[in-house]
Amino acid sequence: MKSYDLLLKGNEQWAKKKNHEDPGFFQRLLHLQAPEFLWIGCSDSRVPANQITDTDPGEIFVHRNVANLVINTDVNVLSVLDYAVNQLKVKHVIVCGHYGCGGIRAATTKTDFKPVLNMWLRNIKDVYRYHRKELDSIKDTQMREDRLVELNVQEQVYNLAKTSIIQRAWQQENRPDLHGWVYGLKDGLIKPVFEMNAGTPIDSLYEFDDL
Ligand SMILES: [Zn+2]
Repeated sequence: MKSYDLLLKGNEQWAKKKNHEDPGFFQRLLHLQAPEFLWIGCSDSRVPANQITDTDPGEIFVHRNVANLVINTDVNVLSVLDYAVNQLKVKHVIVCGHYGCGGIRAATTKTDFKPVLNMWLRNIKDVYRYHRKELDSIKDTQMREDRLVELNVQEQVYNLAKTSIIQRAWQQENRPDLHGWVYGLKDGLIKPVFEMNAGTPIDSLYEFDDL
């Protein structure tokens, strides 16, 4: 048996179990998804949105990338955000990072990861630069990295608020609230680190007046 056959076998067992526990489950989700949450998380295999929040398919709309970044030229994340906010009408957008993030650690080194990864990680180096004073004052490497994980989540929440997608939804429908969370690989627990409720004032530099 090939390794991927285990995935298919696992899927079969899961579907059977789910159907047994809740016979209407798949039928209910067949024609409608109405999740209340958009999750922007890290691609890390140890941080699966549904499992760590003990939720089912249908409950969270998910986007994941290396180090959970919200970049204003990334058509992928912006399409997901647009669809989640304007079509699914989610009430909350969660950016969830995690301690021990390889992307965050990589960005703190001088290693040349070659063009594409370098481009991506540059955004994290910028987060470090915005908070250089605080981060440089933390002598312990692990603690400094952990703090960068938290600050990165905070910056990505700001990045969400800078989009016209979020600003329009805030103005017209007073949603969604934005949340910055960090997951701990050591204990499996999520720590909320930053929040911007709908309508929170932002730096006027980023405000649009013709929403
Ligand atoms: Zn990560």
